[in-house]
Amino acid sequence: MNCKCPECYFEFVIEDEVMIGEIIECPDCAIQLEVVEKNNGGIVFEVAQLEEEDWGE
Ligand SMILES: [Zn+2]
Repeated sequence: MNCKCPECYFEFVIEDEVMIGEIIECPDCAIQLEVVEKNNGGIVFEVAQLEEEDWGE
């Protein structure tokens, strides 16, 4: 299944069995992308909002 990174517009292929909510890493810019929609045309991503835990030192 073809998809495109919303951040760097790199086009890549991921497995068809990918599920909604799954986190994919862009092979080009390494950003974390969450699968929010699957349709016949492909995959819709949203940039995953990773919480930065600051535990302090
Ligand atoms: Zn990218």
